Amino acid sequence: MQTVTQLDPLRRAVAMLKADGPVALVPTMGALHEGHLALVREAAKRAAHVVVSIFVNPRQFGANEDLGKYPRQLAADTALLAAEGVHLLWAPDAAAMYPPGYATNVVVGGVSQGLCGAARPGHFDGVATVVCKLFNQVAPDLALFGEKDWQQLAVIRRMARDLDLLLPHADAIIGVPTVREADGLALSSRNAFLTPEQRQSAAALPRSMAGAIAAIRSGAPIRAAMAALTAALEDAGFASVDFAEVRDAGDLTPLAELGPDPARLLVAARIGGTRLIDNMPLQAG
Ligand code: AMP
Repeated sequence: MQTVTQLDPLRRAVAMLKADGPVALVPTMGALHEGHLALVREAAKRAAHVVVSIFVNPRQFGANEDLGKYPRQLAADTALLAAEGVHLLWAPDAAAMYPPGYATNVVVGGVSQGLCGAARPGHFDGVATVVCKLFNQVAPDLALFGEKDWQQLAVIRRMARDLDLLLPHADAIIGVPTVREADGLALSSRNAFLTPEQRQSAAALPRSMAGAIAAIRSGAPIRAAMAALTAALEDAGFASVDFAEVRDAGDLTPLAELGPDPARLLVAARIGGTRLIDNMPLQAG
């Protein structure tokens, strides 16, 4: 596996790969776990070559967020990716991504608003900006993202459609199902921040979400199910619930009741100083 940290060698390395077959991009912020590796494995099934990026993107962290303490482990990540047969690792530093004088921001309306967009102002501008740059830098044939970050996936799909990135969009941007621990907790680099006791309590998040979905499917009003879910999380030791909402799975319109289109339950909650997010489909299958 080749690792490059500057744009010129990246372009040369990608050009050689593309001459030989389709290239898939898996963007990450490192601290890799089985969730990231599921994206890499899916990428390898769909393209001849896999490029992974590792970049802890300062523009998607708010002033009071965990940029400084976000886990960084490039050597361990490099070994994991090499073992997966990844061809190229793009690991720029902040100066390579945002050189002096950098002044452009990509803002996606609609799907960026509410949910994590409300709790983390500017977060999705940072995500859209860096993913737009990564698409232009690598020019992949397809790119893979986790359903774990459902709103992020919706923002990226919207941006790709609106800016004509990665054509055809429907086939080129692939969502990969969330990888979970045995107790249901979604894998996340931020789980490393949890104490053993918090880690145990955190399993209440997927458990209570599954309970809320079962209640709605057997006729409970969404509003009552969200109130019960919030109470269950607080009882289990979560400090606060940023949001617990049912939305249209595609355009993220808030739903007061289930309709014919796929719906998604999305939750963000804080345990100690750590903010966890998760989402699940309302419909079976
Ligand atoms: P991150 O490094 O947190 O920015 O995540 C990089 C990519 O991995 C994003 O597309 C995430 O949605 C995806 N991802 C993170 N955790 C998981 C998980 N547990 N299962 C599947 N994909 C994940």
